[in-house]
Formats: sequence, structure tokens, C-alpha cells
Amino acid sequence: MNEAAQSMRIAVGVPRGSPPEETRVALVPSVVPQLVKSGLDVIVERGAGEPAGFPDADYAQHGAHLGTRRDALGAEIVVRVRGWGFDGHGNLDVSHPDQVIIALADPLGSPIPVRAAAEHKLVTLALDLVPRITRAQGMDALSSQATVTGYKAVVLAADRLPKMFPMLTTAAGTISPAQVFVVGAGVAGLQAIATARRLGAVVQAYDVRPAAQEDIESLGARCILLPLAPGDAEDQSGYAKELGAAFYRRQQELMAQVVAGVDVVITTALIPGAPAPTLITADAVAGMRPGSIIVDCAAERGGNCELTRADETVVTDNRVTILGPTNLPSTLPHDASLMYSKNVVALLGLIVKDGRLALDDEDEIVRGILVTAGGKIVHHRVRRALEEVRDD
Ligand code: NAD
Repeated sequence: MNEAAQSMRIAVGVPRGSPPEETRVALVPSVVPQLVKSGLDVIVERGAGEPAGFPDADYAQHGAHLGTRRDALGAEIVVRVRGWGFDGHGNLDVSHPDQVIIALADPLGSPIPVRAAAEHKLVTLALDLVPRITRAQGMDALSSQATVTGYKAVVLAADRLPKMFPMLTTAAGTISPAQVFVVGAGVAGLQAIATARRLGAVVQAYDVRPAAQEDIESLGARCILLPLAPGDAEDQSGYAKELGAAFYRRQQELMAQVVAGVDVVITTALIPGAPAPTLITADAVAGMRPGSIIVDCAAERGGNCELTRADETVVTDNRVTILGPTNLPSTLPHDASLMYSKNVVALLGLIVKDGRLALDDEDEIVRGILVTAGGKIVHHRVRRALEEVRDD
């Protein structure tokens, strides 16, 4: 490529994770050559990959430029992990109109920063809104990060439980296997089932979507069938829908019977754009065995257990421990970043053609993830979410 062409290359900036406790990085060194080959310059803030085990030298070796935070944030496209980078007052440290920002930003659950993004005339793309269609699978960052969540939730539970997971027959007697109950059998839940099974636990699982039964059983877990009529539990995209209060009440009563007989409960039940359903009540926890553990992976959205407190450990009077981690992928930043990077590269492949930005809003994926552009909020579901916040 000649010098003039070089200078016209689009730059992709990779800032250090923010907020500071975010340890993942949006691009890892190994994907840089592919991006450079496709006509992009990659500018990495010095130290951005270090918390995830990717030193600056690796980025340089793979063809990235290392720079200051300002250099990375000044790029035409900025790739982040969580959030578009606004502080609590709607300020961004560096940005310019028409700058493209790609991140997991939860614009349906937390739509407030979207207004600031439109005011800054940013082009924001939410990886959380990637439609669940085959062509978009490579960009599905919710799935890649939920895989890490499901795995780590079980590892945390195994670490806390005063029992071992597998059944052991030894000269010192027979140890019975841990009983694990996984609530919600989407991506995180299925990975939790697989991990608990690998550790030797006896696993039961439940999901409101009838289609989950086959997935649960294919992993060697027993599917709990609650005698409930969930009606139409699933929307067109395969996500669970919010169901009525009477349904949840009945579900809570039935859940209480199951959790009373297990050692570990991993909850992962979510409904897009809505608070997490409360499935395990305080009464149900009171009926659990002393020493049992709940890992509530829905803590960030309010939790599936009534007693969950986000990022805290609650120990009840009957000695049940409830963990409410809100960012488990960040506790395994190396692999979480490797997977996230692949999602980001797949998306960049869709929106950068021949080294130029080509956002085709006729494309189903682009339409699905484009939140703001040209100073406007262009995503109608996000606009509605923002109106609901205003109404509250
Ligand atoms: P999610 O994170 O939104 O929710 C997790 C699980 O909680 C879901 O399985 C949901 O049915 C369940 N849930 C919600 N309310 C519940 C309740 N009251 N009781 C019990 N469970 C409840 O979901 P997800 O993991 O992102 O996956 C959602 C669906 O999309 C699944 O069918 C998954 O297999 C599918 N999926 C498809 C693709 C694709 O085709 N590209 C990719 C990933 C996931």
C-alpha cells in the first residue's frame, strides 16, 4: 500500500477497560494482523491488555500501534468491552462527531447514556443487540461472555461448598455427589450444567422455555418439569418473555420445593430489557440446607433470588451463602477477551469494506445493533426504553 493510501486507513482504538475494575480488553494481539490486512490501523492504549495477560510487546509484534489513551480514544472506531465510555454525568473523555463506538452497553436495560451518545453525535453499536440469527453467531458477544459466566459460577460454588462435587468411594467411606440445580438453561445455564457435570455433580435444571428440555437432557442433567402452563413463554427471537405475576408466584412455590433438596443453586434466568424475574424467595432460602450455596448470575439485573445483593456475599441465618457477582467474565479476562475479540472482529468485518466504513442500515444485523447515528436515537426499542425511564 502506498503512503497516501496508508494515511487514509481507518484507525480502530482499543482503550483500557473502564470502569477500572473491567479487566477484559476488546481486541487481543492475535487478531490484529487480520484487521491490518483488511485495511485498518489498530491503536492500543499502553497497558490495555495487561490485566488480561496480553502485554504491550505482543500487540506491537502483531502490528498494532501503542499509544496514549487520547490516541486510542481519538480513532475513527473505538472498541470497548462494557459501556460506551460515559462517566456518571454523560461525559466522555475524548470523542468526535461520527466516531463509531462498539461495546456491550445494555442500552435496553440502562438507556440513559444513549441520550448523551446522540448529543455527542456518536455512532453507537451495541453488541448486546446482535440478532440471534445464524449469520450473526460470530458476533454474539452475549453468548461468548455468558459461556464464561456459566463456567465460573460453578467454579465459585465448588470453592465455597463445604462438600466435594463428585461421588467418591474410598477406604474412608463413600462420599455422595453434590446436588446442583441450574435455573435458566440459556447459554450461561447450559455451560453451568456442563461444568457441574464435569466436576461430578448430579445436576437438575429448569427453564421456562419448553425447548430447553432437550438441551438440558443432552448434557446429562435431569430436566425439572414444573406443572405450570407458561403459555407462550418465548418470543420470536427465542428469548423468554415476561410472564404474569400469578405465574411467577406459582413458580416460586414450586422452586422452593426443589431448592430445599440441593446443595448448589445457580440462577441465570433473564428476560431481555426487563428486570430479572424473582424465582427464589427468602422463604425458599430459609428452607435450604445449611452450607448450601446460591450463585445468582442475574445479580446485575436485580437477581433471581430475593436476598441477592449485587457484588456482595450474603450469609443467611440458616447458613446459606448467596453470591451476586455482576461481572464474572472479567474474573477470567484472558479467555473472555479472546472470545470477545473474535466477536468484535466479526462485526468489524461486516461494517468495514475495502478499508472504508460501510454501515448498511438495510442489513438486519446493522439495523439490530445501531443505537445512535447523526445525532439521533435510531433504535426504536431503545427509544421506547428511554421513554419508559422518563415516565418513571
Ligand atoms: P438469556 O440470558 O436472556 O436468559 C437465560 C435463560 O433464562 C433463558 O434460557 C430463558 O428462557 C430463561 N428464563 C427466563 N425467565 C425464566 C423463568 N421465569 N424461569 C426459568 N428460566 C427463565 O438467554 P440466552 O442465554 O441469551 O439465550 C436465549 C435463547 O437464545 C436460548 O434459546 C438460546 O439457546 C438461544 N440462542 C440462540 C443463538 C443463535 O441462534 N445464534 C445464540 C445464543 C442463544
